[in-house]
Amino acid sequence: MKFGTTLRIDKKMTIGAHVSKNGGYLKAQDRGREIGAECIQIFVQSPRSWQSPVRIESEAIEFRSESTLKSKKILPMYVHASYLINLASPQIELYKRSIAALKDNLNISNIINAAGLILHLGSYKDTTRKDGLKRLIAGLNEVTDSVDTDVPILIENTAGQGNTVGREFDEISGILSELNEADRFGVCIDTQHLFASGYTFESFEAVHHLTSKINSTIGIEKVKCFHFNDSVVESGSLRDRHANLGEGFIGKQSLALIAGTPSFRYLPLILEVPGLNRSGPGKTDVTTGKRLLKKGINLWDLRSL
Ligand SMILES: [Zn+2]
Ligand SMILES: [Zn+2]
Repeated sequence: MKFGTTLRIDKKMTIGAHVSKNGGYLKAQDRGREIGAECIQIFVQSPRSWQSPVRIESEAIEFRSESTLKSKKILPMYVHASYLINLASPQIELYKRSIAALKDNLNISNIINAAGLILHLGSYKDTTRKDGLKRLIAGLNEVTDSVDTDVPILIENTAGQGNTVGREFDEISGILSELNEADRFGVCIDTQHLFASGYTFESFEAVHHLTSKINSTIGIEKVKCFHFNDSVVESGSLRDRHANLGEGFIGKQSLALIAGTPSFRYLPLILEVPGLNRSGPGKTDVTTGKRLLKKGINLWDLRSL
C-alpha cells in the first residue's frame, strides 16, 4: 500500500543548503556548488538589521545580468526573508517596517528570479492571536497587492516559541483562506520546527498521520519545500534549535522516512544545520542529506512492494 497523494515525478530530488551571500550572489552560487548543493537558500539582506533597499536592489540587478550570461550554471535560489519582519506585531512602527521590508524582499526575489521567498509569520506578542492574525492577513494582502511577481511567498511553520503564528497547519490553512491572492502562497516545512511543535515521524504510520494532517488542512500541493534539520531539543519543546542531520533527537531513521515519503520526495530539502564548527552546512552535511533521502525512498518503496 502506498501513502501520500501527490507524486511530483516531473521534478528531481534535490538537496539544498543555506549559504552566505557575502561577496555577492555569484559567490553564494559558488559556495553552494562547492558543497554539492543542488539548490541554495540565501538572505538578500542582513537578517537581523534593517538595510537600505537601494543597495540590495542594485546588487540584485547586477546579478540578473551576470546570471543570464552564466545561466546554465545557476542553481535554483530560495530567499529567506529577514528575521526582523513581524507582520503580526502590535507595534505600528515595526508593523509598517515589516510590510516595507517584505515588499523589498519580494521585489529582490523577483529580480533574481528566486524559486520562493520563505517567511516566518511573526508573533502577536502580548495581544490576542485573533488580532495578530488580522494584522498579518492585512499585511500580506498589502504586499501582494503592491508587488507583482510569480515568485511565491512560502510560509514557514514555526516551532511554537513565544506567541508566534504558524505552528499549526490548521492555522496556516485558515490564513491562506483569508488571503486575497492565496495562489501566490505556498508552505515551507521545517522538520525541526515540526518536531519541536510536537510531531514525530519515526514510523511509516507516523509519517502517514502527518501527511494526512497536512493534506486535510493546507493540502499536500501547497508544500513547496522543506528545511531539513535535526533537532537539539525534544519533540514538544516548542524551541527552534537546529542540529546536524543524525546528531539530534529526530535521528536518521525519522529524517529518512519524512524525506523519502512519496508525498514529499521530489521537493527540495534545504539544510540549515550548524555544520562543522557552526560554519553552516558543509559538504559532509549535504552528502548525509542525499544519503538519507535515498535511504528513505528505498524504505518506502520496499514497503509498498
Ligand atoms: Zn526560517
Ligand atoms: Zn529554525
